[in-house]
Amino acid sequence: MSLNLRVGIGYDSHRFAEGDGVLLGGVLIPALVRSTGHSDADAVCHALTDAILGGAGVGDIGEMFPDTDAKNAGRDSMEMLRLAVARVRAAGWAPAQVDITVIAETPKVGPHRAAICERLAAAIGVAHGDVMIKGKTNEGMGWIGRGEGLACVVVATLSRIVEG
Ligand code: MG
Repeated sequence: MSLNLRVGIGYDSHRFAEGDGVLLGGVLIPALVRSTGHSDADAVCHALTDAILGGAGVGDIGEMFPDTDAKNAGRDSMEMLRLAVARVRAAGWAPAQVDITVIAETPKVGPHRAAICERLAAAIGVAHGDVMIKGKTNEGMGWIGRGEGLACVVVATLSRIVEG
């Protein structure tokens, strides 16, 4: 069946270490922790990248940017996101709308929503209003509740690019 809309889901998690801010969607949110990882550890960008690649059916972030490759060390996740969008567009799909949930006890995402939405919308080529992000705590339960790290879930809608 040939659909003109597709939906992808992405998930990511990163461990916290002592630090001075958490990078989420290209925005550094002041905090007493930072996310650790091979790249710049931006969990929002990573989950969004996977959602977009998954929706188009053209791979995943681990295959596109392997952590065994030295050039991905400390890499800018916004750049990885833009490269993933280019791959998706080359396959005939364009991001249409994304919905993001960050699960963390800290930091609070709400006050930074507008800044994050603006950066992500520009990176994936949609209007500001087509990106939504919200934060949830894990009610103190489990590893997220203990403040060991954060998780992020993204659902992305893609529309088929119609040749003019
Ligand atoms: Mg990641």
